[in-house]
Amino acid sequence: MIDTNHTYYTVNNLTAEAALQELIKGNDRYVLDHVEHPHEGAQHRVELSRAQHPFAIVLGCADSRVVPELIFDQGVGDLFVLRVAGHIADDAVIASIEYAVEHLGTRLLVVLGHERCGAVMAAIEHIFSEGKLNSLIRYIEPAVKVGQGLKGDVLSNTVRAHINLMVQTIQTTTPILSHEVGNGTLKVVPAYYRLATGKVDFLPQLDEA
Ligand SMILES: [Zn+2]
Repeated sequence: MIDTNHTYYTVNNLTAEAALQELIKGNDRYVLDHVEHPHEGAQHRVELSRAQHPFAIVLGCADSRVVPELIFDQGVGDLFVLRVAGHIADDAVIASIEYAVEHLGTRLLVVLGHERCGAVMAAIEHIFSEGKLNSLIRYIEPAVKVGQGLKGDVLSNTVRAHINLMVQTIQTTTPILSHEVGNGTLKVVPAYYRLATGKVDFLPQLDEA
């Protein structure tokens, strides 16, 4: 018997394209300093207490300057946010994405890299430590090779290459997500955040590039 109070069978109403438009509008408000801070009140909190229906998943960096709810001007329950230094898609991140797609019905995933990313910089400069940092940097190393082969700024090119490689990883690593992407029920979008202006550039997807 289906428990109708459970989030398992609910889906939010936004398609990937509509969700993307919401993020673009929210980022425009943030850039122009016209933020609305939606969905923060006590009443909204109560309404959400039974179930969550986030309309977008954001995989972003742990950098304190890149806060998805703020830069997209969204509130509680709007975004399913995964933040880890260098926005890497390791197994735990991919499992969390699968959860949001399969159980919460979220149709859009944004992989959000940013200007002057310290984790990407560490990978470029081969800053290794005796701690766990190496385990994170190894996810970024394939992008360093790509970035060093391109003209222009190595750091910015490597961040962009890493964003695209993480998009590719998410789309192809697990049967569940590959199936959703193939079906058109999940759209994975690369994006690049500029620290001073607050602007998010949605990058062309690999198959459109
Ligand atoms: Zn970063």
